[in-house]
Amino acid sequence: MLEKVKELYAGKAKSIFTTSDPTKMVMVFRDDTSAFDGEKMEQLARKGMVNNKFNAFVMEKLEQAGVPTHFVSLQGECESLVKNLQMLPVECVVRNHAAGSLVKRLGIEEGKELSPPTFELFLKNDALHDPMINRSHCVSFGWATLEQLDEMERLTYQVNDVLSELFSNAGMLLVDYKLEFGVFQGSIILGDEFSPDGCRIWDKETRNKMDKDRFRQGLGSVIETYEEVGRRLGISFD
Ligand code: UDP
Repeated sequence: MLEKVKELYAGKAKSIFTTSDPTKMVMVFRDDTSAFDGEKMEQLARKGMVNNKFNAFVMEKLEQAGVPTHFVSLQGECESLVKNLQMLPVECVVRNHAAGSLVKRLGIEEGKELSPPTFELFLKNDALHDPMINRSHCVSFGWATLEQLDEMERLTYQVNDVLSELFSNAGMLLVDYKLEFGVFQGSIILGDEFSPDGCRIWDKETRNKMDKDRFRQGLGSVIETYEEVGRRLGISFD
């Protein structure tokens, strides 16, 4: 176990601490919950613990399937040890069904199956509301190289194969999700987190929303539902 030394960065829901090993960081999942680029903020009890364990479970599944991730180990209820990546300011989004900004931007009916799934890039910038960008923007502005983008797209689709099946086998639809990548010793590695905060999950039968849309839309039972998703996947939160 590596102790936290100094808080390097506090995001909207997680904080990153240095350790005595410059190649490793501690990621702390807080109970803070935000939506609409930080406009709506609340503390939800147990959220840090639930998302930490959820993320660890998913990252381990992805590693087993050959996706390189920054996850090293759980360190406590709300903390995980991760590799120290140089993060790229680009969000990769895959959509299996239409929802969220795609519905608004292109007028597509919510729930429409997207075949093949779409792949989109967004700039990680709250002040600009994470605008949609393309590959040429990434290259011209130095956010990522074409080679890095190819690898990010390949890995994001590989994650889709692994996780769509995992959720489907547990009675849920993986509607869409956002991934962030970084560079570690020259390679592109999956960073950040995978939790119901950064994806859309619907019950297969009822199409009930089981993700952060419960918070965004004020539907209630946010963390209880995250725990239900986890339980269906076989995660224990005790
Ligand atoms: N997403 C995220 N962080 C962001 C933007 C999007 O985790 O800053 C996730 C979101 O939860 C959803 C997917 O990416 O699962 C696609 O989001 P969308 O573009 O529909 O944006 P939204 O309208 O949800 O902000």
